[in-house]
Amino acid sequence: MSNQIFFTPGPAQKFYSYEQHLKNALKKDIPSISHRSNDFQNIFQETVENIKTLLGIPSEYYIFFTSSATEIWERITQNLIIESSHHFVNGSFSKRFYEITKAYQLKSTVTEAGFGEAFDLGIPVTAELIAITQNETSIGYNFPNDEITHVIESKPTGALVAVDVVSCAPAVALDYSTIDTAYFSVQKSFGLPAGLGVWIVNDKCIEKAEFKEKSGMITGSYHSIGQLKKYADKYQTPETPNVLNIYLLGKVAQDMLYRGAKQIQNDTIYKSTILYQTMNELDWIEPFIGEKKYRSKTVGVGKLMDKSSVEIINKMKEKKMIVGPGYGKFKNEHIRIANFPTHSKEQMELLVDILKTL
Ligand SMILES: *Cc1c(COP(=O)(O)O)cnc(C)c1O
Repeated sequence: MSNQIFFTPGPAQKFYSYEQHLKNALKKDIPSISHRSNDFQNIFQETVENIKTLLGIPSEYYIFFTSSATEIWERITQNLIIESSHHFVNGSFSKRFYEITKAYQLKSTVTEAGFGEAFDLGIPVTAELIAITQNETSIGYNFPNDEITHVIESKPTGALVAVDVVSCAPAVALDYSTIDTAYFSVQKSFGLPAGLGVWIVNDKCIEKAEFKEKSGMITGSYHSIGQLKKYADKYQTPETPNVLNIYLLGKVAQDMLYRGAKQIQNDTIYKSTILYQTMNELDWIEPFIGEKKYRSKTVGVGKLMDKSSVEIINKMKEKKMIVGPGYGKFKNEHIRIANFPTHSKEQMELLVDILKTL
C-alpha cells in the first residue's frame, strides 16, 4: 500500500489489518467458494457473532447483509413502516432517509434543525418508526446518547426506533438493547471496501414485517425481512452476497475485539479532543459545531475562515495526508477529517502537527 493516510470520511483509510486478511482470503480462495457451502455458513456465523460481541448486541437480534446503508433505508421503509415515520434531520444523510420514505408516498414527519444545529426535543412525535442518525457525517454532528434515550423514553408506545450508526460504530457507544434496528455500511469506520451493508433488527421488527406481509402489503422481494430471516436462520443470504467483504468484516471485527470496544471508544475521544483543540487554536479554522457535546467524535468538521478547502486539501496532500472537503453545499468552506478506529493516536498527532504548519 502507498504511504499516504486517508482521513476522508468514506471511503476511508482501510483498516490496518485489511491487507493481511485480504491476502489470507485469496490464499483460502474465499472469492470462489459457494454461498451455499458450509464454509460460507461458517463465515456468516463468525462475522455475525463478532459484530454482536463487538457492539454489545443482544444475542436474539438478527443481523442481515445488504449491499449498502442506502439499501437499508429502502428496506426499512418497505418492511417496518406502513403509514408514517419521523425523522430527525439536520444534515444530508438524515435528510436522504426522510426523502426515501417520501418517495414511497408515506406520511413522514420531521424534526428539522439547521444543518449542524441541535434538535428541539420538546416537540411531540407520533409515528410508527423514529429515525435517528447517531453521527451525521455530512456536517460532523453527534446525536448524544442522553438525547437518544430521551427520544426513546418519550416515543409513542409501539413505535420502532431506528439508528443510523454508519460512521460511528463501534467507535461511539450505543445501547443496542434499547433500539429496534440499526445499520451501517463497512467503508467508513470499519475501514473496508464499499459494497456491504449490515442491518441489525430485533423481534419487533420481524413481527412488524410479518404483519405487513400477512396483511397483503408489499415488503419487497429478495431482501424483505421475511426472506432475509429465512436465509439467516441457516447462516445464508437470499442472493449471492459479497462473500469476500463478509469474511473481511468478521476478521476486522475480531481484531477490534482484541483491542476492545471500550479501548477503541476511549482512543476515539482522545484523538477527537486533540483534533478540535487544534481547530480552536488555529485562526484559519474552527469546529463547525459550536457546542462540544454535539461534535462528532469520528468525523471532525472544520469551518474555514479565509481559506478554501481545495487549498487545505492540496497542502495536506503534499504531506501524504488525505483529508475530505465539506459535504454538498459546504464543499468549499469545510474540511472533514475522519477519526476512525484504524487511525492511530500517532497518526492523529502527526495530522494536527501538520495542520499547525499551514
Ligand atoms: C455514508 C453514509 C450513509 C450511506 O452509506 P452507503 O454505504 O453509501 O449507502 C448513510 N448514513 C450515513 C450517516 C453515512 O455517513
